[in-house]
Amino acid sequence: MHRACIALGSNLGDRRRAILAAAEALKTSPSVTDFRLSRLYETEPVGGPSGQEMYLNAAARLTVQCSAGELLELLLGIERHLGRERRERWGPRTIDLDLLLFDDLVIELAGLTVPHPRMHLRRFVLEPLAEVAGEMVHPVLGRTVARLLAELG
Ligand code: ADP
Ligand code: MG
Repeated sequence: MHRACIALGSNLGDRRRAILAAAEALKTSPSVTDFRLSRLYETEPVGGPSGQEMYLNAAARLTVQCSAGELLELLLGIERHLGRERRERWGPRTIDLDLLLFDDLVIELAGLTVPHPRMHLRRFVLEPLAEVAGEMVHPVLGRTVARLLAELG
């Protein structure tokens, strides 16, 4: 059993519906137990092309039986199922699911970096994450999620 954290974001179409549908798909996946979703936060787009719509963001904490790689495959499958098309980096998206933390593992593979390399810099990630996993420690920075959020100032 592993403890994982995921960031959910959407800024295209029915954002709330996309996030709730992704959360439901995760929660009901056979390898997932103990699923907890944060509130939804409306946030300004960061990076990417100018003139993007506002985002809706959330975070989830879950327990999984599968590996980090398998969890990422599950996330990418849910993104595809909900109709995400990849166009430009950081461009508008129906749904974006990022694997933030997986136990205290540090993973650096071609298609998977954990902890997510930008999570500690992003309020739109840390704020919802602190709600559901404030006490989880970032294995590279050695500080809790709550502390990382406080340090953003
Ligand atoms: P971003 O989430 O940075 O805006 P994308 O969602 O378009 O960008 O990029 C997703 C790609 O990033 C995936 O194909 C995946 O292989 C790779 N990736 C690497 N590490 C992670 C991670 N921790 N969580 C999600 N995707 C990751
Ligand atoms: Mg992503």
